[in-house]
Amino acid sequence: MPRNPTSRVHRSAAPLLAVAALLVTSVASAPAQSAPVQPPPVIDIHVHTFGGGPGQTPMCPWPPQFLASDPKTQEGTNGWSNQNCVLPLKTAATPDEYMKQVLAEWERLNVTAVVMGDEASVKKWKAAAPNRIIMGTSFMNSPTAGSYTPVEQLRTAFTTGGFTVMGEIGLQYQGISPSDTSVDRFFALAEQLDIPVGVHMGTGGSGRANISSPKFRGSMGNPLLFEDVLARHPKLRLWVMHAGYPMIDNMLTLLQANSHVYVDVAGLIWSYPRKEVDNYIQRLVEGGFGDRVMFGTDQLVWPGLMEASIEVIDRANFLTPQQKRDILYNNAARFLRLNADSASTRR
Ligand SMILES: [Zn+2]
Repeated sequence: MPRNPTSRVHRSAAPLLAVAALLVTSVASAPAQSAPVQPPPVIDIHVHTFGGGPGQTPMCPWPPQFLASDPKTQEGTNGWSNQNCVLPLKTAATPDEYMKQVLAEWERLNVTAVVMGDEASVKKWKAAAPNRIIMGTSFMNSPTAGSYTPVEQLRTAFTTGGFTVMGEIGLQYQGISPSDTSVDRFFALAEQLDIPVGVHMGTGGSGRANISSPKFRGSMGNPLLFEDVLARHPKLRLWVMHAGYPMIDNMLTLLQANSHVYVDVAGLIWSYPRKEVDNYIQRLVEGGFGDRVMFGTDQLVWPGLMEASIEVIDRANFLTPQQKRDILYNNAARFLRLNADSASTRR
């Protein structure tokens, strides 16, 4: 099991990736023989802007277990098992350095991403890489925010500010259901403006409720909580972030009942035991929803996370080359309506 990506791994995967690209994408013509092989395009639908700076620590993906803690003792900042992986994913010293490293990775791996955060930070990223960034913002850009962005400010961002995605919405961290009528005006706005909406659902890190976010409720990560808001807004272009992990049965139920709804595998793709990650993605695809599963990292503070996450999909022996391309690119291109041809990428 790889603990960390290496350039050796990437190079060895390149020929396979190139073959997959020729098979399943609409490449008009083969590159000239001497041109370097560009990896097939990837869309990461779930990226944040807050990386870089002191206090952020290296991370080993795929913790093998979550540890019990004792309320009688000083508790750690999280309940993840400590690992001694060979090459932990590193952080960056400053926000600018972080952005620079991440964008270099995206250039190398041919990634376009939905970057979400407060308007100013997202615009800064957009200016640095205009062709690789789709801008997203939300009414709660921090899960601990005490107040919401006014709906008219969001309307301006989506109509004249260049923002085309509403996310991430972290109501679960506040213990609030997405169908709570107190936030309905934001979903009404998204439906009216035909803006895709991403809502955090499910994951949260080990010990989230008792260690760092006392209002967090696991029960508010139930995908079926979307049923009322979807009934009120039948045209809503909703994606369930983190695929409602680990409530797979309820997730499949929602996908079955609401054919507009998509999911992303961000966060869960690196923050659970490796076999569990595969099992969850496999269940979504084998449940019949392979055309609604979108790749995402939940890129937080580690520039190397992109390559590690792409490899989870690339190495999945339960996915066909077509299914891998759908997850890594085609499904998000269709959901986001990136171009008029995206609908034709469906099988
Ligand atoms: Zn999230």
